[in-house]
Amino acid sequence: MSPAATRQPLIDSFGRQIRYLRLSVTDRCDLRCVYCMKAQPDFLPKSELLSLEELEQVAGAFVDRGVSKIRITGGEPLVRRDVVTLIERLGGRLGETDGLDELTLTTNATQLPRFADRLASAGMRRINVSLDTLDPDRFRRLTRGGQLGDTLAGLTAASRAGLKVKLNAVAMKGENEDELPDLIAWAHDQGHDVTLIEVMPIGDVGLDRAIQFLPLTAVRERLEQDWTLTPLAETTGGPARYHRVEETGGKLGLITPLTGNFCAGCNRVRLTCTGQLHACLGQEGSVDLRSALRERGLAGLHAALDQAVAEKPEAHDFDVRPGAAPSVTRSMATTGG
Ligand code: SAM
Ligand code: SF4
Repeated sequence: MSPAATRQPLIDSFGRQIRYLRLSVTDRCDLRCVYCMKAQPDFLPKSELLSLEELEQVAGAFVDRGVSKIRITGGEPLVRRDVVTLIERLGGRLGETDGLDELTLTTNATQLPRFADRLASAGMRRINVSLDTLDPDRFRRLTRGGQLGDTLAGLTAASRAGLKVKLNAVAMKGENEDELPDLIAWAHDQGHDVTLIEVMPIGDVGLDRAIQFLPLTAVRERLEQDWTLTPLAETTGGPARYHRVEETGGKLGLITPLTGNFCAGCNRVRLTCTGQLHACLGQEGSVDLRSALRERGLAGLHAALDQAVAEKPEAHDFDVRPGAAPSVTRSMATTGG
């Protein structure tokens, strides 16, 4: 493959250019959220994971092909040993001409007291923190044993380090449904934007998704009884639709994979920690970048990127009707949420 070919932008067969990589560095986690994984998940053997050097090589190839935003995710990315070293190395590509515009992270925040300062020094400016409830008992139940105080300590550490935080909350029927207005008001008071997410039928978590699923159309109606939501033109190129909550002054994003399909503008792909590239979160297909890199080097890697992007499906077809099987078998923690 010529050097010029390794700089060609990644454009799929529907004309969408891939600008955003979600890079999963582990499928392991220190929590067990009920919508994400089973109580006793089968984690991948560590021997199957891409090394930090390989993760850096693959991420670098994406940047060379026009990816300008990388989100480090997992599992819980901060439980992988030395992940901050990888983040520091990737941070070196921020601000390069045709390099990265943004390097960011999605985390449950439990490890942030240890790492927030180093993340900020590596060039991270904004992170997403997942928090579904402010009730300690509910938090323990939803995360199967987690301590709310650990995540709150992480949020404090992030703010002290100067990291701007956006909270992600998965809306769950009968679980945190009653608490969402308070959670949003609290977050806005702390200076954090919030995004609500519909439960997606990804992976077998041991229960029927129809029981968990709460359409955000219903949540929105409820919020609008008390608040004025003004739609904002802004988009991150992602699935969230943003609103200003006039009464709190904060921003509210709504991610509605079920009630409002967002695939037409999709600019992202996901790499698992074993090097499987998923061009669509909601479909089974993947391309094995680990084998491509190990067997055929950088040229093989770039050829595999071309193949994956050419095969990117047009849309997902999630199904949360009662009794429906998971739309994809791998969990969110394996794919990289
Ligand atoms: N452990 C980190 C965290 O929780 O932020 C990063 C990985 S986690 C898989 C990424 C995001 O996926 C979290 O915001 C989580 O709430 C979301 N998530 C996990 N399973 C989901 C599901 N079935 N439907 C919707 N969102 C899900
Ligand atoms: Fe862990 Fe994040 Fe999944 Fe919760 S959502 S179990 S914190 S990977």
